[in-house]
Amino acid sequence: MAETLRAINIKSIDKKEKDKNILLFSIEEGKEWVTLKGVKNPNAKMKLAQSPFCFGEFVIEEGKLGKIVVGFEAIESFHEISEDVDKYFEGTAILEILDKMDFTSTQERARVFLLSIKALKNICFNNIKPLYILDKFLIEILNICGTPLYTEKCSNCGSKSFDKLYINYVTGELVCSGCKDIYCEEFSKTVFSALKILNNTEFEKLSTIKLAENSEKTLLNILVNNFKSRFDVYLKFLGILS
Ligand SMILES: [Zn+2]
Repeated sequence: MAETLRAINIKSIDKKEKDKNILLFSIEEGKEWVTLKGVKNPNAKMKLAQSPFCFGEFVIEEGKLGKIVVGFEAIESFHEISEDVDKYFEGTAILEILDKMDFTSTQERARVFLLSIKALKNICFNNIKPLYILDKFLIEILNICGTPLYTEKCSNCGSKSFDKLYINYVTGELVCSGCKDIYCEEFSKTVFSALKILNNTEFEKLSTIKLAENSEKTLLNILVNNFKSRFDVYLKFLGILS
């Protein structure tokens, strides 16, 4: 029986001469590999479906050797991201996160799915610094997973008087000077302010903010470290961190 999924193509690899295997991410099924047959043919009907970023309705059937796409209708190809070098790396970073993380509950998956579409739309069509969007995306994933980085109080003792802030790289949490130990490093006020602004601003409004110079880059490094300590997920972010 055929099944229709609203999904994003997050990865694509060649298979045989004319086929491709693509990794889909959908609310219903999470991540799964499916095959697009004959899609490298220039006149192929489902040509668009083979490209990463493509968001659409995929009709899937169980074949003898795995799942096959038998129908496809694009909702948004996001092809502008692949064609613009200023957007490409951040867009690819979003797909890397989806590829490397596992979202277990259906509710968590649904929220991450909608968040991804929102982030890709804003990278693609709005005039926002792509790094702001990537930082915001990571901050929101931490929030969805119940392990927020942003906090109004020390995550250890609950004190609200942060004279100085520290990040504990083992737990990934922010603590006060009374609670810091050898695993902690000072977390600058400028970067904390960038974290707070990004946490509290909707994606659509990110075009109206301006963060202190380079704070978005420092914050990105901290967020990437946080994904390592929280989830054991190693993000490479080619073209951004290297
Ligand atoms: Zn404390």
